[in-house]
Amino acid sequence: MNKLAYLVAFLFLVVINSAFSQQHFCGTDHHHRQLVEQYPHLQKEYEKFNAQLAMLQKDDDYDSQTVYVIPIVFHILHQDGTENISDAQVFDQVAVLNRDYRKLNADTADIIPAFQAIASDARIEFRLANRDPWGNCTNGIDRIRTHETNFGRGQSKLNQWDRSKYLNVWVVRTIESGAAGYAHYPTDVAELESYWRDGIVILHGHIGRIGTGSEGNSRSLTHEIGHWLSLAHPWGSNNDAGAGGCFNDDDGVDDTPFTKGFTFCPQTPEQAMLCTPGVPENYQNYMDYSYCSNMFTADQVKRMRLVLKNIAFRANLITAENHLATGINLESPLTCAPIVDIRVNSRLACVGETVEFFDASSNGVVSSYLWEFGDDASPSTSADANPNVIFMSPGAKTIKLTVGNSAGTRTAVFERYIDVQPDVPTTYSWYHTFDMQTAEQFSELTYLNNLNISDTLPFFSHDQKGHGNKGSVRLNLFKNVTLDVTTSLPSTQESRYWLNLDGFQHAIVTPGFNLTNLSPVYFSFSYSYATRSPLPDFAPENIRVYYSRNCGKTWTTLGTTTQSTIDISSGLSSGGMSTYSPYVPTSINDWNIYSRPFNVTSNDLNTRFKIEFTPSMLSNDLYIDNISISSEIPTPPPFDPNEVPNIDAGIDDFTLAHQLTMSPNPVMSGNQLAISYRAGSDPMTFTLRDLNGSILSSVERLETNQPVLFSLDIDRNLPAAYYLLEIRSAIGVSVKKVAVVR
Ligand SMILES: [Zn+2]
Repeated sequence: MNKLAYLVAFLFLVVINSAFSQQHFCGTDHHHRQLVEQYPHLQKEYEKFNAQLAMLQKDDDYDSQTVYVIPIVFHILHQDGTENISDAQVFDQVAVLNRDYRKLNADTADIIPAFQAIASDARIEFRLANRDPWGNCTNGIDRIRTHETNFGRGQSKLNQWDRSKYLNVWVVRTIESGAAGYAHYPTDVAELESYWRDGIVILHGHIGRIGTGSEGNSRSLTHEIGHWLSLAHPWGSNNDAGAGGCFNDDDGVDDTPFTKGFTFCPQTPEQAMLCTPGVPENYQNYMDYSYCSNMFTADQVKRMRLVLKNIAFRANLITAENHLATGINLESPLTCAPIVDIRVNSRLACVGETVEFFDASSNGVVSSYLWEFGDDASPSTSADANPNVIFMSPGAKTIKLTVGNSAGTRTAVFERYIDVQPDVPTTYSWYHTFDMQTAEQFSELTYLNNLNISDTLPFFSHDQKGHGNKGSVRLNLFKNVTLDVTTSLPSTQESRYWLNLDGFQHAIVTPGFNLTNLSPVYFSFSYSYATRSPLPDFAPENIRVYYSRNCGKTWTTLGTTTQSTIDISSGLSSGGMSTYSPYVPTSINDWNIYSRPFNVTSNDLNTRFKIEFTPSMLSNDLYIDNISISSEIPTPPPFDPNEVPNIDAGIDDFTLAHQLTMSPNPVMSGNQLAISYRAGSDPMTFTLRDLNGSILSSVERLETNQPVLFSLDIDRNLPAAYYLLEIRSAIGVSVKKVAVVR
């Protein structure tokens, strides 16, 4: 995808979100028009094919009593919410389809007399796949944890199974166009570059009659499969049910009368004679919007069956060979060994705190569990489905789960899955800067994202670039996948990641700090970021800063929303724009500093900070450096060994009260730093630390109530870098930055 395409895609999203915010029933026509805009010849293909169907309808080969059976797979896209519907809800939907497409529904009794004779058994049935495309045993329900459940767009169609072997249905939480579901006409997805779009996207609340489904919504899939088999709405291929004209458009089906369509259920046939006096319209058709649908007509059935005979990638579905390949040839489906997955109430926890684990396995009913939590856990193993566990020591915990049933057992290991913090941190009880110069510093932080594909994608890495010194955290958001689009788009999680960054969230979390002896406290960090395109101020990407006093279980923004947020309008794009290659900061000017005071309370024995980044589809790489708990706002520009800046010592109350000055700053190693101040009623201490908080030297001055001038020796072996001079008196503490040069 080139830059222009990104921009178009981005602007398009904005337009769609505002224009189609109202929930309407079916998005098939909307998506058809969208494709026709992109590929204008598709409209001609659609019309040509409809004309062919009209011709073929005269042949009665279609009309055999053979039942066509279609293997079906439901891909449940979820983020562990209610959209991760039960197997039973899916089974119930399949039962509804097999009832409606075989005219076994009890409400055929309600069909008005004018249509009783032509209401037809479609002789089409659906079976959940029992073999996946790789030959593995499947129950036909494929669960994928992904943020795409919030979009339901073309690119959300993860893990499409060969569309000539399976009907693919993706079940989601939200569809961004506002529809409840949508399909594609076969002609819209006939070409190779569009095959990955083939299938149906539908809301979880429109699956089955139980769980999150309902009786009233349970026929949405009956309707969408009609589109998938080339049926239009009875009033024509548009979305204007009840609003358009009578005769300006039509569905091309002979036995469905001209109609404007219905968005309500007429109470009598007379209320449904809006286009031709005395001719009742077929408001009870599954392809109408009346919500009292109960039938297909004979000619609609012919068309669907013709599609299943005449379009190659549909015709293969119903062959005996395909039934064998997809495992639906058996009398009753094989039981499959379960696929292991887990869920947890929080991946961040304190020592001694209960962590709630949940089985999230799929593909078969589990009859035995073996959880292994490690030696420091209580319990260290469990045979429960959803155990509660306490970890006794801090660290990154690896969890192992084995699940089994009569078909076999499977084990999965979840590396470093739970991040356990000490009750009261001892390592971080002093001002501290993660300047990211070493890989060790990089590994002291915790990195999270809202998708569990972190094992396969290097979201965060330790980078050589830095602000003031080498080393930073790089969040990788750019990869040129332009060449892969046609070949790898359909299935790989990886290409989906690079092309659909919006909706991801990535976070850097500090260890817990004991802040109780510190005041004042500022949380700050440097960042450098570029976009791939000029963005409007309302572009959705932002950094947001949070703190937590319970080891990371719950988070609060640092200040108000505005104070805790860096977005495009407040200087997020410090590095400007990098369109065609990964962004790399090249000068100090490419960096900005974020800093906010943090109000320390007596509860601040254990406080963590989180830097969360939400990208847009136009994001390039983000660099974070110098994550710091300090006594003052960092002073830009920072120290660079090659480019020594003048340092402003910083004025605060402490400095004013003691009339404190230091010079020279920067100071040469081996020289002396002259410090003058007015002593108060108590002695004062001057402690020089490195950025990790380690003490290099400490001096106590006993003078009281008098001006003092003394010299602090700067060790000749001290490397060029920033150091911190902590000064304590009766009135408080101040920490000054001292730059040492060689
Ligand atoms: Zn529709």
